[in-house]
Amino acid sequence: MALIVQKFGGSSVADAESIKRVAKRIVETRRTGNDVVVVVSAMGDTTDELLDLAADCTPIPAPRELDMLLTSGERISMALLAMTIKGMGVEALSFTGSQAGMITTPDHGSAKIVDVTPGRVREALDEGAVAIVAGFQGFSRDSRDITTLGRGGSDTTAVALAAALDADRCEIYTDVDGVFTTDPRVAPLAKKIDAISSEEMLELAASGAKVLHLRAVEYARRHGVELHVRSSFSGEPGTVVYTPKTGHPKGDLVEDSVITGVAAEASEAKITVGGVPDIPGKAAQIFEVVAKTNANIDIIVQNISAADTNRTDISFTVPMGEGRKVTEALEAAREELGFETLLYDDQIAKIAVVGAGMRTSSGVSAQLFRALYEAGINIEMISTSEIRISVVTRADLMEKAVRVLHTAFGLDAEETATVYAGTGR
Ligand code: ASP
Ligand code: MG
Repeated sequence: MALIVQKFGGSSVADAESIKRVAKRIVETRRTGNDVVVVVSAMGDTTDELLDLAADCTPIPAPRELDMLLTSGERISMALLAMTIKGMGVEALSFTGSQAGMITTPDHGSAKIVDVTPGRVREALDEGAVAIVAGFQGFSRDSRDITTLGRGGSDTTAVALAAALDADRCEIYTDVDGVFTTDPRVAPLAKKIDAISSEEMLELAASGAKVLHLRAVEYARRHGVELHVRSSFSGEPGTVVYTPKTGHPKGDLVEDSVITGVAAEASEAKITVGGVPDIPGKAAQIFEVVAKTNANIDIIVQNISAADTNRTDISFTVPMGEGRKVTEALEAAREELGFETLLYDDQIAKIAVVGAGMRTSSGVSAQLFRALYEAGINIEMISTSEIRISVVTRADLMEKAVRVLHTAFGLDAEETATVYAGTGR
């Protein structure tokens, strides 16, 4: 008998019909003799709707109350799912994050898991029940308040429970058949990946792949949890995300592919600090100012200085939501930093190609640059890691760039991919 954690995202439980379909799947898993723990997200776009509602009531909702509000979304789906399963003749009990022992830091909207004490979940399993846990939420012992883990946090809830319960596997159910070589909504010829390393998955998730939450992949990698990404709409086997501990499902001899996937993201902005005196210490000063804002900077490019002025430009990317505080902080330090201009540009996109085989194969960057050049797409910034190359282009060229690179690296499938549901919102 295995212990399986199954997570169902918002689009898998969007309405009563979907809840019944998901309940049937859970009941089947239970009836074949497995212990089942289920983690659910809020129905459909509930979380977004609650956020809109809060914004209609007050411009800056109190973070504590916002968490109280948002966690109610998952309570609705967990209760509906539990009663549906019971109605099908299988015992089921729902638990809030706090009842399930998800202990977090007190940071509202971005709480980190510090401990998982799933005593009640265990008891429910011992009594033969399916345990249904509300995703994306927890409880802080310090503040004694309800918290949320940040958008998309239910994946992390599922992985953390799987690790704490020492589950045999953690299945993440979504609205596509698994992890694809790129977003099938953007490139219909995207191909399903059978197995991917958590390392590559981390790079893809960090570069904008939405299928799995970055923190969930990190958690799974650290705790050696094998993830199975599958569709709740089909019986397909999905994608296995393996860790160094669990190993490739087909054994050690499988060769890394040069390019595994292409990810893209349009939610970053580029800040250019112009006319910076080209003397030692300036970059340090600038990025110290930026660091104080806690913004997450990514790609950094410094140009060669102009010979006549000995001044240079430094550009870097930040998430759009953090752009304002960074430009304000830089503006406030303008005199001390001695720069001439400050430009903010949010019409950019970041596109990344990822593949563990890049380590041992050369010419990947040349191939990438040529493909974009032939498609008439200008590259504004470049950054690389051992297994990833990222470029910045104009935002309106993002989808084209993704398709061009997908084709250039031979990732196109013969048939178009199926997307079962979801707005991708
Ligand atoms: N319902 C939350 C959100 O939409 C958490 C999740 O879906 O994982 O962000
Ligand atoms: Mg959601």
